[in-house]
Amino acid sequence: MKGYMGKILKVDLTTGDIRQENIPDEVYENFLSGVGLGVYYLHKHIPAGADPMGPENILGILSGLLTNTGSLMTGRWMAVCKSPLTGGWGDANCGGTLSPAIKQCGVDGIFFTGISPKPVYLYMDKEGAELRDASHLWGKDAVEAEEILQEECKTNKKPKVAVIGPAGEKLSLIAGIVNDAGRISARSGVGAVMGSKRLKAVVLQGSGKTGIADSAGMSAYSKEVATKVKNANLPKFFKGFLLPYMGMLMAKQKKVVAMDGMLAAMINKKFGTIAVNTLGMTNGDCPVKNWQGSVVDFKKRQYKKLNPDRILARETKKYHCASCVIGCGGMCDIRDVRDGRYAHTHKPEYETCSSFGCLLLNDDLEAIFYINEMLNRAGMDTISAGNAVAFAIECFENGILTEEDTGGLRLKWGNAEAVIALLEKMINREEGIGDILADGVKGAAERIGKGAERFAVHVGGQAPGMHDPKLDPLLGIHFSDPTPGRHTIGGAVYYNTMYLWKEVSWAPPVKKHPKSEEYIPSDREALKSIATTYYKMLTDGAGGCFFAMILGVDHWNLFKMLNLATGWNLSAEEYMGIGRRIQTARQLFNLKHGVDPRDFIIAGRIKGDPPLTGGPLKGITLAIEDMVRLTWKNCGWDENTGVPEDALIQELHLSELTE
Ligand code: SF4
Repeated sequence: MKGYMGKILKVDLTTGDIRQENIPDEVYENFLSGVGLGVYYLHKHIPAGADPMGPENILGILSGLLTNTGSLMTGRWMAVCKSPLTGGWGDANCGGTLSPAIKQCGVDGIFFTGISPKPVYLYMDKEGAELRDASHLWGKDAVEAEEILQEECKTNKKPKVAVIGPAGEKLSLIAGIVNDAGRISARSGVGAVMGSKRLKAVVLQGSGKTGIADSAGMSAYSKEVATKVKNANLPKFFKGFLLPYMGMLMAKQKKVVAMDGMLAAMINKKFGTIAVNTLGMTNGDCPVKNWQGSVVDFKKRQYKKLNPDRILARETKKYHCASCVIGCGGMCDIRDVRDGRYAHTHKPEYETCSSFGCLLLNDDLEAIFYINEMLNRAGMDTISAGNAVAFAIECFENGILTEEDTGGLRLKWGNAEAVIALLEKMINREEGIGDILADGVKGAAERIGKGAERFAVHVGGQAPGMHDPKLDPLLGIHFSDPTPGRHTIGGAVYYNTMYLWKEVSWAPPVKKHPKSEEYIPSDREALKSIATTYYKMLTDGAGGCFFAMILGVDHWNLFKMLNLATGWNLSAEEYMGIGRRIQTARQLFNLKHGVDPRDFIIAGRIKGDPPLTGGPLKGITLAIEDMVRLTWKNCGWDENTGVPEDALIQELHLSELTE
């Protein structure tokens, strides 16, 4: 009755052995579930130096501690593994409806090791689990395969399915895992690891309940949260055309102030993440032309074609992940787009619009709809794919790639037809350029040579999320995380809505200080980033959504929900200690596998070296090394090397993982 199931499923794909393992209470008390249980388990069981695509790597698919407990916006799942993209800790977070199904099958997570001799899928219900032949699914796209499996495994209700598409099967290092016909756990190359194990899918048909300590209290709190979110609405007159003006105001902001997180809920309810399509152009958040341009290069007449109103015009209904009351997603009708191949699809998220919009100077929205569906079905990360295409275009522009290399494609900025043709080559891993780009820009630059690495924008091998840290330096610290380039840990703009200082004494309050101070390395900024990170680790351990987290503790209080579920009655600061343990364990995982944390500090164009020559972020270069150093110091990690100090390892009881 503590919110977790206390068990995991272990599947050895080499031998076919499947068994459940009990997990002691102390593990949940120290790490929660989700990312925390994931890092604990993988740390213990993946040997140092293991090949990420080999049998020793472990792929974990985990629910959150608060998932399926009656709490709200806690229905997200995590995929974890040793990342083939970065060589270190890999995690990827995803919405959809899979997460509760894991617990409804009686476990908190499923861990796959070994390599199956033939394509298989795992079927699991409350009675047990078995591996089934997936030969008939191999080669099918993720949406098609999900539909087949839902029909094949249907009982009185459709099962939940996590599946890889052709990108994962062909071991593209930028492949993800898909559920709900297009929600993708996209980062860290988790789909490549699943493909390397010849595991096509996981099919879950559960209906079990999750006991919690105080269900009446949870129900009352969920009602309170739901009512607040339901009543938070933008005025009817607020349309997408106003967003660039909002961005301009943000760009002119001289003082940092705390904001009510319900504003974020209002924007997400109406637009979803696509609000940033145009707002981010005028405040500088959107990276342009492979991170070397600005709104000067992708002007209003272009970016206004990506106005969220134009996307909402196609939205037929809002989409909610499990237990979500915001519903930032949307289903769209695109049967008339391009070749009419796709009909009903998920709305493209901001990250996709930006990766295939301003990053490539492409204003063809129809092409973006098409690409979004194409990549979701392929099971390929849209951020990494857009980043690879931008890299290729710049190589082409500089004569490093020629039409001979690209199979006749003229890779020009804004040439959507060429982009689609190139993506087809990447998805099919066609010999030559398709094969080279399918593993992301770091590997591509190494294979191409001729100085191509100048145009490869990445952090430790992973393409950064589509948000410019030169607008929000705290984001630059989060990009330098043990899972580098992740945009969903935090940033100053989010810290300002989270009000963590109300619950955590050491979290610095936001009190109208000059925006310019965010650019100066200081203990205050370091502590802001640390507080956000620890809270995010708790959120990822609980199955919470980033957009719930930024509602702030006044509106969505994770500490309170964790106590209602577990009955532990811990203080906020004690919970932050758990967040600290998870974050430190992620760093220790990287060190165990030979990753130097200094290699994950953002560099080059991302930090403003050289600085942009136009737009709101013109002339800015971040002192990111000093910022990260201060962050490491305040974490109890060596400020020069990023190695957690022995005293901290003892304090956090992590010696078990370092022995
Ligand atoms: S806010 Fe969006 S991403 Fe978060 S749980 Fe709801 S629908 Fe999913």
